[in-house]
Amino acid sequence: MYDVIILGGGPAGLTVGLYTGRAKLKTLLLEASHIGGNAAWIDQLENYPGFPFGISGTELMDNFHKQAERFGVETRMEEVIRLESLPEGKKVTTTEGEYRARAVVIALGAKRRELGVPGELEFKGSGVSYCATCDAAFFEGYPVAVVGGGDSAVNEALFLSGITSKVYLIHRREGFRANQTSVDKMLANDKIELKTNKIVIRIEGEGLMQRVILQDVNTKEEEVLPVEGLFVSIGLVAAAEFLEGVVATEDGYVITDEEGRTSVEGIFAAGDIRVKRTRQVATAVGDGSQVGMIVSSYLKE
Ligand SMILES: Cc1cc2nc3c(=O)[nH]c(=O)nc-3n(C[C@H](O)[C@H](O)[C@H](O)COP(=O)(O)OP(=O)(O)OC[C@H]3O[C@@H](n4cnc5c(N)ncnc54)[C@H](O)[C@@H]3O)c2cc1C
Repeated sequence: MYDVIILGGGPAGLTVGLYTGRAKLKTLLLEASHIGGNAAWIDQLENYPGFPFGISGTELMDNFHKQAERFGVETRMEEVIRLESLPEGKKVTTTEGEYRARAVVIALGAKRRELGVPGELEFKGSGVSYCATCDAAFFEGYPVAVVGGGDSAVNEALFLSGITSKVYLIHRREGFRANQTSVDKMLANDKIELKTNKIVIRIEGEGLMQRVILQDVNTKEEEVLPVEGLFVSIGLVAAAEFLEGVVATEDGYVITDEEGRTSVEGIFAAGDIRVKRTRQVATAVGDGSQVGMIVSSYLKE
């Protein structure tokens, strides 16, 4: 029996662990794929306070993990598939086994939204990617495209322009939601060509992806873009289908009060998985520290 089980090892989960570990609570952290979550893939994190010249997401997350482990947090690399609130405590089922705890913190974050067009699933991993920092090296010297109009899409296009031969940025509108500094950098970059007012309607190839078919949103005219890679960056969706019916959710995201309590006593949530407006490393850390302290006092009471 653990005091606390943390679901997810991104910045929110690791920060919760730091606080519950320091409060001497027996803490287990369960992570399905890699420690650091989405933050670990950020090439250069420039808006996390304390690092005037930026820091790589991997390095920062590695330090978060070491710090949590120093205070006794146990990490297991297992995917959580079920969460139950029973009279005798919380039960967490993973692909490897079952664990019980007095309290659970959901910190499962969010994952990339898919385009939902023909060819996307077929070429996932053979051209279609959802993470430029993870997969850019496979496309060194080749033309690629990025889909999206927000900060992630623009920053991925900038990052890819340093590695690939050419980057097309496909966006369904004329204007970009991304911050103006990044947009200005993108406009000044002659390796990036904008394809605005266009949507992807199909992805094609033989074995590997070879082209993307675009459609103009106004004229409906089609265009073939010969690219070897397509980076999809059109937003995020909550990462936990198994939570439906366990705690109150909205569009898959967990509803909490301001201090991270969910609709079920003893189950808390922190970070991007919560219904909230801002999803950043700094806000995930803020959530994590708050929930870490709230869980500690809940268990002591
Ligand atoms: C491309 C990109 C660029 C970004 N750039 C910036 C930036 O420059 N600055 C900034 O502040 N923020 C940035 N962000 C946002 C930032 O990464 C997130 O806000 C932050 O990582 C959220 O932390 P989290 O711990 O809530 O969730 P996540 O980082 O999503 O971590 C959740 C963890 O839970 C794990 N998990 C999910 N399901 C399961 C399961 N069933 N079982 C076990 N584990 C599971 C995941 O594998 C993951 O490790 C960026 C995000 C993306 C995608």
